[in-house]
Amino acid sequence: MKGNLIIISSPSGGGKGTLIKEVLKIASNIGYSVSFTTRQMRAGEDNGRDYFFVSRAEFSALIEKNEFIEYAEVHGNLYGTSINQVQKELAKGNDIILEIDVQGAESIRRKMPESVGIFIMPPSFEVLRQRLTRRATETHENLALRLRNSVSEVREFERFDYVVINDEVARATDDLKSIILAERLKRVRQTDAISYILNSFDNSKIT
Ligand code: 5GP
Repeated sequence: MKGNLIIISSPSGGGKGTLIKEVLKIASNIGYSVSFTTRQMRAGEDNGRDYFFVSRAEFSALIEKNEFIEYAEVHGNLYGTSINQVQKELAKGNDIILEIDVQGAESIRRKMPESVGIFIMPPSFEVLRQRLTRRATETHENLALRLRNSVSEVREFERFDYVVINDEVARATDDLKSIILAERLKRVRQTDAISYILNSFDNSKIT
């Protein structure tokens, strides 16, 4: 049985990174897709762990080679998801989390309608602004751009299967984990295991 492809989106500063880290610590059989980006590496980030950091020319070459299942320009930089990583993880039977923006989410939804979409909603614009400002990772201009983009991004929640309001990390992590576990229990995802069990229920065994 193939694993589930789980899309997680939120506006920048919505806290999806923190929630995903927490979920990866407590859930098993789940991988994380490390995206490619042309954005500058931030202090504390690692190449290959947070992103594969590449130049625009390298990114264009990857597009040419059809290495991406989706890519998009987000807040002035390019970001893309590797097809290989996704396929490898799903083939192992593991779920895979794609932490991508709302445009990427839409592309994946079109290509893989069976994917599961989860939107992480900040509790308010003010909280989002505070989180982004406190994080202090962006220039003044880029922070303003991210906040401006958040106004349309939050309205995209309607296209997702689930919404987690991220007002409290521990509860929101529980919510996220519950969704991932419940998705694995859907009837249609358990057909192989169930047919094996059904085969053991046989009138001829009853004396
Ligand atoms: P950041 O620069 O803060 O790491 O990410 C900016 C935005 O790009 C976030 O919304 C993040 O989810 C999104 N993003 C990260 N990787 C990808 C990707 O591979 N594809 C798309 N479409 N968006 C991505």
